Amino acid sequence: MQSSGQLFVLSGPSGVGKSSLRENVRKKLPRLAYSISHTTRPPRHGEREGRDYHFVSEETFLTMRQGGSFVEWAFVHGNYYGTSADQLELQRRRAEDVLLEIDVQGARQVKMRFPHACFIFVLPPDRETLKERLLKRGTEEGDDLETRLENAMGELLEASWYDYLVVNDDLDEAVEALKTIILAAHYQREVVLPQVKDLLHLE
Ligand code: ADP
Ligand code: 5GP
Repeated sequence: MQSSGQLFVLSGPSGVGKSSLRENVRKKLPRLAYSISHTTRPPRHGEREGRDYHFVSEETFLTMRQGGSFVEWAFVHGNYYGTSADQLELQRRRAEDVLLEIDVQGARQVKMRFPHACFIFVLPPDRETLKERLLKRGTEEGDDLETRLENAMGELLEASWYDYLVVNDDLDEAVEALKTIILAAHYQREVVLPQVKDLLHLE
């Protein structure tokens, strides 16, 4: 049976391991597409245009926003981030499963537009570990690091409305949990009923 693609939203505080989880789960589920966001944040060492993000100027971002180019957008840790409406529409037309890795503000906007999307929040085992991971990654320092640590607590408070909460302690275990959630989402009532409505004599 050909199932339609589903939308998955992955959120969690900076440094919790979202990118690591996403990269690892996509190796196990190669048909899971990833929506590459636009951002005004400068590229980190090793990040590539069009692979990690579309890196744009603030002027370009605001013009795109004004023109309705984003399904959702947010100002996070001092930079703008947004999901391209055209790209997402294309991926959904191809019936691909699409993963959005976005912050809690963006996730709320997606929830309004796509109430049946699957919302997954990644938690750290404890606060100290979160701080250690962010420090170890070494991509931010000074005020940028402080901002991310300060914002983490507010973001964690949003976890309570997500459908699934994954604690990223052991990475392999968390990847397995994420994979299980993504596979199980295809068997939800809202997803399967439209596909079997003839069988069940449903309108
Ligand atoms: P995010 O995308 O949420 O900001 P990253 O995936 O960049 O987080 O992870 C932050 C840092 O923590 C990276 O150095 C990554 O290698 C490390 N990391 C991620 N998950 C784990 C884990 N389960 N155990 C130990 N280190 C981890
Ligand atoms: P980073 O700068 O660490 O790559 O991302 C910072 C935060 O922005 C993370 O919480 C990440 O999930 C979020 N983010 C990345 N892309 C988007 C997006 O397109 N929209 C929203 N709302 N948040 C995003």
